[in-house]
Amino acid sequence: MIETRTATQGWKVGSATITSVVEDQQDGPPGLLFPEATEAIIRRHPWLVPDWADAEGNIALRVQAFVVEIDGLTVLVDPCVGNGKARWLPAWNELDLPFLERFADAGFTPAAVELVVHTHLHADHVGWDTHREGDEWVPTFTAARHLYTAAELEFVREFLLPGEDVYGDSVGPIFDAGLADVIDPDADLGHGLRLESTPGHTPGHTSLWIESDGEHALITGDFMHHPLQFAEPQLAEIADSDVEVARATRARMLAEMARTGALVLGTHFPSRPAGRVIVDGAAWRFVAE
Ligand SMILES: [Zn+2]
Ligand SMILES: [Zn+2]
Repeated sequence: MIETRTATQGWKVGSATITSVVEDQQDGPPGLLFPEATEAIIRRHPWLVPDWADAEGNIALRVQAFVVEIDGLTVLVDPCVGNGKARWLPAWNELDLPFLERFADAGFTPAAVELVVHTHLHADHVGWDTHREGDEWVPTFTAARHLYTAAELEFVREFLLPGEDVYGDSVGPIFDAGLADVIDPDADLGHGLRLESTPGHTPGHTSLWIESDGEHALITGDFMHHPLQFAEPQLAEIADSDVEVARATRARMLAEMARTGALVLGTHFPSRPAGRVIVDGAAWRFVAE
């Protein structure tokens, strides 16, 4: 078992603050997430234990959103699975989890969110954008602009899993309410926020760079899923839509993360999701902060 922490965790980047709000964290054998990974591969990298893996070779995956407070702006990145949504994956189906309570405990209110950034539109990155009122899905962050890339809007309508309608319950209502903006995957958002196109996991995937007072941070989204991929960057994740493009993105971004010394926040990294990337022989290693 890997310890699940749901208490608020936060980090400073210059005068900006980044806070993790956890929806859920579960552990299991690495092959569930990375088809080519085995428990033996995990045990080759003892630095993964105890925060990201256990001694038996299991790994954990967290679903969390990051809140960035910068330059007077409150930004929410990748608002998780959401409650009450019909989802193909049993672990995400019809959830009833206290995400909004944890969001409030961390000091935030939905009405104060001004910007919602989506690294991509998989079901676990858009869920809390809407909640159910009667028979309808209505926006949760009613004062926020919600950002989408055109390639992701196309992909979310193509990538259909049985019994679920991510566009219908989590994206369409935002457009209907006039709260959506379509942006470039490399858009400069101002306020020290800049997107960088990181395709492969999905075609229009983007990651968020944060700069404040000369310090830098990166919110990865799903171009990486677990610190194991610092040591084994060739490992494809089960949902990567283009494995080769995803590998090329990881190679490019790993070099960039190590070169800049940025604080890296892994969207699905469990337990201790923030740290720095250092070179470790022919690969890399993650050092938590
Ligand atoms: Zn994804
Ligand atoms: Zn994801």
